[in-house]
Amino acid sequence: MTNIPANIVEYVQSMWMAEMILTYLHIDTQGKLVDWGGYPQHYGLTSLTKNQPIVEQVSFLDGFLDVTHTEVLQSLNIGGNRCINAHIVPLDDSIYVLLFDVTAEHDQQQKMQQQVNELSILTYRQSQLLQELETTRKALSEEKQQLEQSIKLKSDFIATLSHELRTPLTSIMGYTELLNNAKQADEYESNYLESVKKNANHLLSLIDNVLDQTKLEIGQIKLQLNNCSVKQLLADLKSLFLPIAQEKSLLFDIKIPDNFPAQLTIDELRFRQVLINLITNGIKYTDKGFVEVNITWENERLQFTVTDSGPGISSESQQKIFTAFHREHTANKLPGVGLGLNISFHLVELMGGQLTVESSPQFGSNFTGFISAASAQFAITDKFQTNNTNTKILLADDSLDLRSLMELYLENGGYKVITVNDGQEAVRMALQIKPDIILMDMQMPVLDGYNAVKQLRDKNFTGPIIALSGSNIEHDRNYAFKVGCNKYITKPIVPEDLLNIISQVIVQHRIKS
Ligand code: ADP
Repeated sequence: MTNIPANIVEYVQSMWMAEMILTYLHIDTQGKLVDWGGYPQHYGLTSLTKNQPIVEQVSFLDGFLDVTHTEVLQSLNIGGNRCINAHIVPLDDSIYVLLFDVTAEHDQQQKMQQQVNELSILTYRQSQLLQELETTRKALSEEKQQLEQSIKLKSDFIATLSHELRTPLTSIMGYTELLNNAKQADEYESNYLESVKKNANHLLSLIDNVLDQTKLEIGQIKLQLNNCSVKQLLADLKSLFLPIAQEKSLLFDIKIPDNFPAQLTIDELRFRQVLINLITNGIKYTDKGFVEVNITWENERLQFTVTDSGPGISSESQQKIFTAFHREHTANKLPGVGLGLNISFHLVELMGGQLTVESSPQFGSNFTGFISAASAQFAITDKFQTNNTNTKILLADDSLDLRSLMELYLENGGYKVITVNDGQEAVRMALQIKPDIILMDMQMPVLDGYNAVKQLRDKNFTGPIIALSGSNIEHDRNYAFKVGCNKYITKPIVPEDLLNIISQVIVQHRIKS
């Protein structure tokens, strides 16, 4: 075996491949094998013959020997799972072919390539997923926006509708009440009027429920905490519901312990609304037996249960009973739209409590709940009781119907009433006569109620002002307080409520000043 020429060794060394299993083939210009060295058997070249054409002996070199400069055939697969690099080096008048075993390196490279491929597939997939995620996020955010938009549209529409319905309903209800009280109404007429009143009431509660449900849905209801005599509230509810229960021959009672606190700080209106919903249901769905309300107070919690001996609610239905518009098929013949319990549930939650139901068919239902209720710091004492005859009320409302109606209510309550029909007049008159309290309609021509109140406060009118409004929208309510109103009442106005609120506001004003 001949020695490897020095320049070839140098070449090999320059390639940093000294440790590779090297084989060289020396080929003349005719392509015949002159000589060889190294480990040809490692590459399967076991029967090399000198002076014979090399391509007949090493087939993978066929077509590659006509080179003008060094060329490297990389990663040639020569069978037997072997992979080589063949360096074809023209030197003087002959060619040297150097073979290097790169099987391990090739395998490694392939593995790496595989990993790179997998990585790039993963990266591609990841970027695809990110893209999909982004598209979904965009679509969802668009959907959310559309949904919010349509909820807002719905809520605005319902609010406007409710506002438009409330004002005429106030007139219908008020004048019906007046007509009903008039001596000349005979029994038939009284029945007709009662029916008008009942239906107007029904319409009103429907409007209120739809509006409340919408507002709860978009988190627009904010609590208005005030000091409330729960005893008084329950007495009012008892006198409201007793005749209705008696009409169905049902026993009805509201039980409250003697040592119940005089005043609790709660949102009276919302608590009342919840109890009205539950008691109405109890009476509506119970055909015989009783409806009973129990109220207790402990550890700043006002607990209530409304129990009835009605048809009960199956355990399956109890799961859905608080869902909006859910009604049992047994309720189909009775009035209602399935909003009362949903609203009550969310209102109770808003008041820091919980509403649950326990029931078994045939044994009636038991709605139990609690709300947060701190004990109020002071109770209204006799010293602060109002003397209505000396109390001057300025009433500003552009609706002649409503003005006359309210004037009647207020005069029946013993107040002195002065009326005006727009905000500008209200400001002028208030500064002139200095009323004890102002009832200000918020939607009036010339100068609306909000601006009138603003002007009065700017001109140092310090007396209490009650806003009267057809709008139940939270924003309007808050704005009324912002400009300086002390109370906000929505139409229709119930005479007893109005008189109660007026005396409450006057008392609170006296306590403060
Ligand atoms: P509505 O009474 O207007 O249908 P609610 O939300 O108040 O709406 O009640 C939802 C449903 O729950 C009612 O339709 C009725 O089927 C059932 N339900 C409510 N209260 C009672 C009750 N006290 N006894 C039996 N079923 C009741």
